[in-house]
Amino acid sequence: MVLKYTKKEFDKMLRDKLTSEYAVSLEVASAVQIYRALAMITREIMSNQQKVFQAKTLGSGHKQVYYLCMEFLMGRSLRTNLFNLGINEVAEQVLADADIRIDQIYDQEPDAGLGNGGLGRLAACYLDGMATDCIPGTGYSILYEYGIFKQKIVDGWQQEAADNWLPGGQVWIKSHPDQAQEIRFDGQAIETWDGGFHHVKYENYNSVMAVPNDMYVAGYNSQGVSKLRLWQAKAPSFDMSSFNAGNYSTAISQSASAELISKVLYPNDNHTEGKILRLRQQYFFSAASVADILGIHLSQYGTLDNLPDKVAIQLNDTHPTLAIPEMMRILLDECSYEWDAAFDICRRTFAYTNHTVMSEALEKWNVDIFRSTLPRIWQIVCEMDRRCRIDLERAFPGDQGKINYMAILGDNQVRMANICAYTCHSINGVSKLHSEIIKDSVFHDYFLYKPKAFTNVTNGIAYRRWLLASNPGLTNLLSDVIGDGFKQDASELKKLEKFAGDASVLERLGKVKRENKAIFADYLRKATGQEIDPDSIFDCQVKRMHEYKRQHLNALNIAAQYLYLKNNPNADFVPKTYIFGAKAAPGYYMAKQMIRLICKLGQLIDADPAVRDKLRVVYLEDYCVTLSERLMPASEVSEQISLAGTEASGTGNMKFMLNGAITLGTLDGANVEIADAAGRENEIIFGMLTPEVNALKGMGYHPSSFIYDDNVAMAVLDMLERGWNGDNFSEITNNLRNSDPYMVMADFKDYRRAQADVQRLYADRQTWNRMSLMNIANSGIFSADRSVMDYARGIWGITPVK
Ligand SMILES: *Cc1c(COP(=O)(O)O)cnc(C)c1O
Repeated sequence: MVLKYTKKEFDKMLRDKLTSEYAVSLEVASAVQIYRALAMITREIMSNQQKVFQAKTLGSGHKQVYYLCMEFLMGRSLRTNLFNLGINEVAEQVLADADIRIDQIYDQEPDAGLGNGGLGRLAACYLDGMATDCIPGTGYSILYEYGIFKQKIVDGWQQEAADNWLPGGQVWIKSHPDQAQEIRFDGQAIETWDGGFHHVKYENYNSVMAVPNDMYVAGYNSQGVSKLRLWQAKAPSFDMSSFNAGNYSTAISQSASAELISKVLYPNDNHTEGKILRLRQQYFFSAASVADILGIHLSQYGTLDNLPDKVAIQLNDTHPTLAIPEMMRILLDECSYEWDAAFDICRRTFAYTNHTVMSEALEKWNVDIFRSTLPRIWQIVCEMDRRCRIDLERAFPGDQGKINYMAILGDNQVRMANICAYTCHSINGVSKLHSEIIKDSVFHDYFLYKPKAFTNVTNGIAYRRWLLASNPGLTNLLSDVIGDGFKQDASELKKLEKFAGDASVLERLGKVKRENKAIFADYLRKATGQEIDPDSIFDCQVKRMHEYKRQHLNALNIAAQYLYLKNNPNADFVPKTYIFGAKAAPGYYMAKQMIRLICKLGQLIDADPAVRDKLRVVYLEDYCVTLSERLMPASEVSEQISLAGTEASGTGNMKFMLNGAITLGTLDGANVEIADAAGRENEIIFGMLTPEVNALKGMGYHPSSFIYDDNVAMAVLDMLERGWNGDNFSEITNNLRNSDPYMVMADFKDYRRAQADVQRLYADRQTWNRMSLMNIANSGIFSADRSVMDYARGIWGITPVK
């Protein structure tokens, strides 16, 4: 529902809020006060709308979805919610009349970084998609006091600082202590049977209270609103008796250790650590969410028998897996269900999304840690393992190898992915390629066991955030050429394709891009002092720093281009600006070395008058959602160069495509579908295909065979090994020469060919602009609105509430 306020009405709302909250007029209010007042107004509108939407949902007995995810990388909320509610223009005008630029107000908001990267951003995009599609949805996660760390780079080294986001972010959140849930850890669970009845006594446990904090996400031009419920850990109540008895530190440390659970986000992307506190976080938020979901359902229907008809629960990755045994616990211990009936309810309610096939990211908990932290859940998991093995024995008689591999317990570990695969009625990957790979690799045996459970939902993005709200130049051009329909329905972007041969549209597109590059260059100079040339190609690789994402492959090519320009000072060379942005997990040594390499290459080039007008490397500090919103409109080349078979989907690639950047990529993840949608000739594709990677691995990969017959590779590795100005990069070169786990050297030559193609194609600007147009025109399928409808139809069995 688009709310239309007149300027006069909105002006009054804003002034009333400033008066009641801060006793100031609009004329003297600070930017922070205006930001907060606007946030409060927006939140109230969404909260009221959500009440109506929720009443409609429950009143008609409509099914709803709960999306469980340990991360929601929300970024800023004000601009996107004003756009979705249709009140951005009136807000902008009211402020303009008071001589206030709304951008300056938007800049007061911190970036809510409750996630690491793509996985958490996906969850945030789906809240937007659900609201827009009128699919009633609630996200559940943790209210981390500190989100993803703030990154600074000092002399090439990443430094991490705590992200204390709540002071500015809290206006979006409302706490509901009355709806807190008690979560129990540790102690002993004792099962007894008396008179045929099963009892569980749980003793000596420690309690932590989970307090819900709600925020809302508005849909675009929609009556739908999504809720995000974030659990905050609180000590049950201060232990006055300990305190009074003089045990001050006991009383205080008990409360501190309870509250530690929601203190900080683990900063690992695609990598698990196996720490007890992380297990506590997982159970804390899974158990609180299940209690909340079942409580809401029981108060509406008075029974859990019909739960699967009214509730779908999506587990985003294995992090919320404990929701399954926790729901079993409640059904068995508190509602007296038999195992089979309870398990059937879980099976029909839960669905699981897989996000990676890399072994270092597969969650497995040490049995001893698991048993002592979650004694009752441990018992349930053991019983689940026993029954799982019986079921598998029936399907694969005598195949003990297979059964051991598929079982829930093994090698002294609890395997989270197998709990999901065994229980859930749906198992999906996040791109066509990835959904095929999981059937061929990690879940192959489960695919044989329950083939119908396997499906694909290709990821999507909240495209309005990166188009309407971030790229007004392109948005206006599109409105002009194809009308406004694309704002509601991304598939209408396809209408642009008719203009692929229209020289004037192509020229206008080129002009918009040039203006956006100047705006970004301006921002960068003001924010960091770094100068970049808006007439050079903006070639961007922004994402988490990871060996599998292969930022070092990009760096090797930059070094090769540097050497080439040194040897060929008069060569024809289209000037190039390489833009990097990435955080490394603080304990990921190789990733930090990769950051240092990129920064030091940048310094080397900068200091060299012979190359610095043709090559530049900038490293953007603290890459986050807001920075991506600034960069995407100015991007021309989208580097998506992971080793084929390693990137499950990617969503950064979709933001770039939407903004007219051309993908320079491997056929990995959703790059495959991007190239299919836009036409292979409109991307620059290189490198091995997944089967070629597997074949090479099967033969035994030796990077040396790719190095010794390639003079450029030799020269570049020598250069990095020797280093310059007292720095060298032998950790990286040793890794590439000896193991090269992500086969950088195998793809290096073809990557250089692809980079040369970039230069060649860019030299003919009309061709380039046509490729760019074809990308924009075909980016509509990567809308989160489409992804959410795929989930709703194919997995959740939910129709829009109208
Ligand atoms: C979109 C996004 C990502 C995901 O990028 P990939 O290239 O898909 O890994 C990560 N971080 C932020 C801040 C994003 O906005």
